[in-house]
Amino acid sequence: MPIRIVVVDKASVPVVLCEVCQQRIDSAKDGNVDWRAVDTSEPQFTHKGCSAAFRNGQSYVHKSMELIAFVEGLASLLPPAPKKERQ
Ligand SMILES: [Zn+2]
Repeated sequence: MPIRIVVVDKASVPVVLCEVCQQRIDSAKDGNVDWRAVDTSEPQFTHKGCSAAFRNGQSYVHKSMELIAFVEGLASLLPPAPKKERQ
């Protein structure tokens, strides 16, 4: 799973690397998450343009979703944001 921590301007930040071209996926709207079509499998991150090549190169059936949908799914695990008081 190509999620890495890199240092940018002395800050450690997470990045997602494409399984195919190994380049950063700079925006969730430009990426896909592919996974082996079984009950439990490891997500593989690809650029949308690299996703089909990745799936076609696999010996198992893979599914795909947009990276933004994956991130939104993870975000659903977060506790609700506290309500702001009106002033
Ligand atoms: Zn790529």
